[in-house]
Amino acid sequence: MVNISVKCKQCETGIDETSDCPILTRRPCPKCGSMARSFVVTSSDKIQLHEFMEGKKKDMRSPSKKKLRVHIQQGDQINHETGQWILKERCIDKDSKPSWYLELIVDPITEEIIHYCNEPLCGHVGHGSAKQKTV
Ligand SMILES: [Zn+2]
Repeated sequence: MVNISVKCKQCETGIDETSDCPILTRRPCPKCGSMARSFVVTSSDKIQLHEFMEGKKKDMRSPSKKKLRVHIQQGDQINHETGQWILKERCIDKDSKPSWYLELIVDPITEEIIHYCNEPLCGHVGHGSAKQKTV
């Protein structure tokens, strides 16, 4: 079982928040007021247990393409490039204003953050399929 504890990135105060705490409900650090977080991954045992969960929130009144409002993915995945396990968390929240994009990829063994992205969805361009075409 891999646990992620949350710390303030600025002053390293432990924050009583889960790593899947929606950005919307995130409070500034009680000590320094920073919104930046660092995630500490700890394994409680040696048994390799891989879990993956996915959550979706749909609005049935919207046209089919816009139904998906919130999409959360969290768990272990194989990194196809390296063949190693990674711990991935991704949250796309179109119900927040502005729409928000969070992606965190952690190496569960070295606890190293491989990729971290926490920004408005509209600012999330230039990566992969979200890339804007220039004429
Ligand atoms: Zn702080």
